[in-house]
Amino acid sequence: MDPSESAHINCPYCGEPLEIAVEASVGRQDYIEDCQVCCKPIQFRIRVSADGTASVDARSEDE
Ligand SMILES: [Zn+2]
Repeated sequence: MDPSESAHINCPYCGEPLEIAVEASVGRQDYIEDCQVCCKPIQFRIRVSADGTASVDARSEDE
């Protein structure tokens, strides 16, 4: 089983679809990464459920 997978989100600022790598083995991650398109900081919140399914929440920093 591949411990890493990718997730697709839309930038909360410009709406561009982005693909991010998710390390499902880590379980829980919160980090900020600049949008590749508009360069604004996106706050990522990643949760991995017991069956290994990752869900990614992306929001603007000022929310
Ligand atoms: Zn953007």
